[in-house]
Formats: sequence, C-alpha cells, structure tokens
Amino acid sequence: MGYVDEVLEKVSKKNEGQPEFLQAVTEVLESLRPVVEANEELYRKEAILERITEPDRQIMFRVPWVDDNGQVQVNRGFRVQFNNSIGPYKGGLRLHPSVNLSIIKFLGFEQVFKNSLTSLPIGGGKGGSDFDPKGKSDREIMAFCQSFMTELYKYIGADMDVPAGDIGVGGREIGYLFGQYKRIRGTYEGVLTGKGLTYGGSLARTEATGYGLLYFTEEMLKSNGQDIAGKTVCVSGAGNVAIYAIQKAQQLGAKVVTCSDSTGWIYDPEGIDVALLKEVKEVKRARLTEYAAKRPSAQYHEGRGVWTIKCDVALPCATQNELLLDDAKALVANGVIAVAEGANMPTTLEATKYLQENGVLFAPGKASNAGGVATSALEMSQNSERLSWTFEEVDSKLKNIMVNIFHNLDDASKKYGKEGDYVAGANIAGFEKVVNAMLAQGAC
Ligand code: NDP
Repeated sequence: MGYVDEVLEKVSKKNEGQPEFLQAVTEVLESLRPVVEANEELYRKEAILERITEPDRQIMFRVPWVDDNGQVQVNRGFRVQFNNSIGPYKGGLRLHPSVNLSIIKFLGFEQVFKNSLTSLPIGGGKGGSDFDPKGKSDREIMAFCQSFMTELYKYIGADMDVPAGDIGVGGREIGYLFGQYKRIRGTYEGVLTGKGLTYGGSLARTEATGYGLLYFTEEMLKSNGQDIAGKTVCVSGAGNVAIYAIQKAQQLGAKVVTCSDSTGWIYDPEGIDVALLKEVKEVKRARLTEYAAKRPSAQYHEGRGVWTIKCDVALPCATQNELLLDDAKALVANGVIAVAEGANMPTTLEATKYLQENGVLFAPGKASNAGGVATSALEMSQNSERLSWTFEEVDSKLKNIMVNIFHNLDDASKKYGKEGDYVAGANIAGFEKVVNAMLAQGAC
C-alpha cells in the first residue's frame, strides 16, 4: 500500500466520528500524491504525514456563564493548536451551536496550509465554542467571552498563539476577549487580531477576506483570458466575508445578484445593494426578509437555492458543505466559468470533482480566502512595530499577497503535472514550505 493510503487508513481509525476532519485530510492527502510519491522514502522515515495530520495539542474546556435570568449556562470551549513549524499558531474562533472537535480540527488542519500559502510566518490553529450568540444580549455575550478567555489565556500569547474572529466572532466579541486577556495577564500585547482601530486593530482587516477573494478571483480569471468586469456573480452568505466580497466585486465592475443567510436567500437582478445589506446584517443583525422588504427589485426565498441562479462566477461565502453535487450540476448547466471559495470548505468533495471535470476554474478556500488571515498577520506586524499603516498600504499589501498566492499555486500545479488543478496546487505549495520547516526542526 502506498504511503498516502496507509496514512489515510490510520487517520480514519484514529479519528472515528469526525467526518469533517476526515473529509479535509482526505482532500489534502489525495492531492499531495505526486509530491509524496516523489519523496516517499524520506517522508516515511520522518513520519511527515502522520505528524502533519496529528495536532500539536487539542484543548477542550468548560465555559460556565450566567444568563440574564441568573441561570448558569455551560458551553464547551476548544482550541486546537495544529502546527507551529513556520510561526505562532494563528486561526479564528468560531461561535456556533454546530461547533465540535471534528469541525475545529478540520479548520485547524486547513489553516496550516492556508497560512503557509500567504508566505507570512504563521502556523495553524483554530478554536471556538458551541455557544450560540443568536438572540443573546450584549451582557450575555460579554459574560460568555470573559469566561471563555479565563481558560483560554493560559494557552495563547503574541508569540505563541494569536486567535482571530470567524463565524459568530466579530469586533464586539474580539473586544470583550481582548479586555479579559489584558485584565488577567496584565500585559498589552497583540494576542488577538481583528481588534478595534482604537486598540491595535488594522485598517482593512474587516474587508480583507472578501476583498482578497476578489483579488484572487480577478487574477485567476485574468490568467485564463477572462475579465471579472461585466460578469454576473452569485454569492452565498451575508456575513463578513460575503458583504465585502459583494462590495469589491461591484467595485471591479461585476454584478452580484444573490446573497443568503441561514434561513433564506435573496435574488436581486438589479444587483445587491451593499449599503442596505450592511444596515440589515451588520447594524440591525436582522434577517434577509428585511432587505427584501426595503428593496422592490429583490425576491426573498426560504431555504437554499442561490446556486440555481444563472451566473458566470459563484462565490460560496457562508459555511462548510453548502455547495453540493446538485448545486454544482445546476451551476455547470447554467454556464458558470469559475467557483472561488470565500468560506472554508463550502464545496463538498463530489461537487468539487464535478466542477473540475467540467472545466470550471475552481479556487479552494485555503487559497482564495487567505486574505483574512494574511491581513491578521499584517496586524501582528503593526502591533510589533507599534505603528499603524494606512488603509491603502494594507490593501495594496493584501492585493500583492493574493496575486502571489495565485501564481504560487499555479506554478506548483504545473510543476507536478496538474496544470489548472488549483486544489492540488494550493495543497502542494502550502505543504512544501511546512514540510521543509518540519524536516529542518527534527522529530518534534
Ligand atoms: P459570519 O458569521 O459573519 O457570516 C456567516 C454567514 O453565513 C451568515 O450570513 C450566516 O447566516 C450564514 N450561515 C452560517 N451558517 C450557516 C448555515 N449552516 N447554513 C446557511 N447559512 C449559514 O461569518 P464569516 O463571514 O466571517 O465566515 C463565513 C465563512 O468564511 C466561514 O466558513 C469562515 O470560516 C470563513 N472565513 C472567514 C474569514 C473571516 O475573516 N471572517 C476568513 C477566512 C474564512 P446568519 O446571518 O443567519 O447567521
């Protein structure tokens, strides 16, 4: 049996009941076959694949907090520190009732390669809790965040592990978490990114993932003789990534006609009104029905359906496994030319395969949504320098990083005879750097 198959079998046995983690490991290892086969003897001896699929540590803890009725509630907290070969652990915190160890491990594993692709010195980690922020008062959110940090602070630090936001964690939550860390540790350090601008945050961090997704997509299209201007785009999600992806797509001359949330979706043939979407989602934290109520050209539909709309470019920006095989078929039938992931692993393995086999340019999230973590690393640099860069400086660095990521993975795919397979290219380019660092650092 080949080394990849052997390790896939071992990982499946060791991680039973963790489907998301196994899906991510399978996708990555399958696409690494050419590079692993070319170095099989060395990698086997050094147990590279066994080490890269086993987190450095997995921390799970109780998070007790008191709700507005005086009732004690208990959630479970997680931080998975996956690999710090090329820098301190870096990756977001997710607050969502679906959070479990499998999801945090899949996200932490993917983060290792994504962070490597940015070319910045950051390792991979991820964390979060099954706490549901929906419908909670500000005081309840603060109580949860303070309790969560009261345990987490032991394991993080500016040179050790630097968490950021993810689903359910925006500026408000980062503020409460930072305040509690500072209070317990008594130090003022860049221990979290995504901070407010008055206390060490970076300009353009809020926009970075969505903007970066579009810079990447623009470059991918350009290299394949296409232009983003004039294209019709379908976006899913209506959160941080989706909103700024829509905004940048429009700035680049595309027309975005859909967005969605966890209950329904919008089709707006005249183009999504970003200012209205921000008002509904960022300010009022309301449902998309409010968008439809204020916008005569918009149709609201319950449930799923974004991918049934005809478009040239599809940008899934909501959550994992939201673009399924049938969705891929509908997109191909409607003539889609590119799918670029804004969310982490939104496309299932079968859907990805179908899109690639049908000639669709497919950008995996670990490359196309790396703008968020890249700008978080730029926030860390600014904190270390005790300086703040202008919006334009950060945005232009972000654009360079995304363009370079595209060319790195394009080159890696060509080097191993996989031209046009950007999934393989991203995994190989991210993997090679981490493995070189692991080999240099010995058995650790
Ligand atoms: P937000 O919480 O801001 O937004 C998530 C959006 O997706 C919301 O509109 C939410 O709907 C919707 N959503 C969440 N879960 C589901 C579900 N199960 N079914 C349908 N819709 C759902 O998160 P972000 O925008 O920050 O993150 C979105 C994705 O991007 C995630 O996969 C995240 O890991 C990834 N990502 C985020 C980065 C960042 O910088 N923020 C960086 C890189 C990746 P509702 O409004 O109803 O809650």
